[in-house]
Amino acid sequence: MKYVKGLKCRECGREYPVEPIYVCEFCFGPLEAVYDYPKIKRALSRKVIEKRPKTLWRYKELLPIDGEPQAGLNSGFTPLVKAENLAKFLGVKELYIKDDTVAHPTLSFKDRVVAVALTKAKEFGFDTVACASTGNLAHAVSAHGAKSGFHRFIFIPATLEQSKILASIVYEPNLVAVDGNYDDVNRLCSEIANKYRWAFVNINIRPFYAEGSKTIGFEIVEQLGWDTPDSIVVPCASGSLLTKVWKALKEFKEIGIIKDVDTKIYGAQATGCSPISTAFKQGTDVIRPVKPNTVAKSLAIGNPADGYYALQAVRESGGAMEDVSDDEIIEAIKILSRTEGIFAETAGGVTLATYIKLLKEGKIDKKDCTVLCITGNGLKTAEVLNGKTAEVYQIKPNLASFEEALKRIKQKEEK
Ligand SMILES: [Zn+2]
Repeated sequence: MKYVKGLKCRECGREYPVEPIYVCEFCFGPLEAVYDYPKIKRALSRKVIEKRPKTLWRYKELLPIDGEPQAGLNSGFTPLVKAENLAKFLGVKELYIKDDTVAHPTLSFKDRVVAVALTKAKEFGFDTVACASTGNLAHAVSAHGAKSGFHRFIFIPATLEQSKILASIVYEPNLVAVDGNYDDVNRLCSEIANKYRWAFVNINIRPFYAEGSKTIGFEIVEQLGWDTPDSIVVPCASGSLLTKVWKALKEFKEIGIIKDVDTKIYGAQATGCSPISTAFKQGTDVIRPVKPNTVAKSLAIGNPADGYYALQAVRESGGAMEDVSDDEIIEAIKILSRTEGIFAETAGGVTLATYIKLLKEGKIDKKDCTVLCITGNGLKTAEVLNGKTAEVYQIKPNLASFEEALKRIKQKEEK
């Protein structure tokens, strides 16, 4: 059953068939999947969804594939954690964490987009998948590609941290380290994508890949008992995730799964790479590219492809954008760990720190039901906490030595 009618230019509206293409030939605008919503409405209901396995594919009619899923069959449907300790700490009424730190199999939300991209790559008949990445995407394409039997080419900047290289190479893709920064890698990949018939998930099949992010929005609504929260805070790199979470809510309304959407969408960035937040605060549509300088490397896109559309989504929903310093990001990672037992990567620190800032500014109400999108696991970026964690008590293997340490622990607790 086909539910996608074609691709459409977001700028000039020109229509294209379902092919591995991503820009409009006339105006260079980005292409987006167009669905047959009346047909989806007849096929999909709360009851139909509830009967399906707990993966992102329970919403498959709203994803841009024609046949059955062929990758990421266990991905998605991560926990929506009621964050009672964190809510109490912040003095807010109702707070949830959408916890993609435990996404299957590579511990970030990129498992969602890659599941959709690789299924589409199979449908298009590609035998090789590829990507340019500095971390999470490399891990997801390496792992899902292994499971789905693709040849894989993963392009990374040569200076990438050892732990991130390991979390890709263990799946044995062809890992290519480019002598240059991420922008150089990306430019090279566009050239390679033009020459070889490979599926570059974030280049020539981007319109399909990006749709996988909607599943975070669908899951939030379902996990709240088919209800929408008052506010959702989303981290922004390219801005794509934010636009897709907003699109998900509108699509659920369009096909009658929910009656209304009153949710405000808030975008979170690191101050060291905040082109979208800066444009929002200046009240302009013009996104000025920046040179990233932040610990939140997974969000460090200086020239965000979907920045303009993220701005539109935030404004349309009545939300706002904010950005936070590296110190605030690290403090937020620690707050989330000690209150909720969830260890997030730096992007998660950005999301929580931005939420705290928006609360202080009165832009999010303390009485709101709020969902924070925590998109990746802290073990991926553990080095940012070097020298910034609590004390480890070193002792000799005897009771007296332990009791000495215990005295110090108790003294510290009394303070
Ligand atoms: Zn166009």
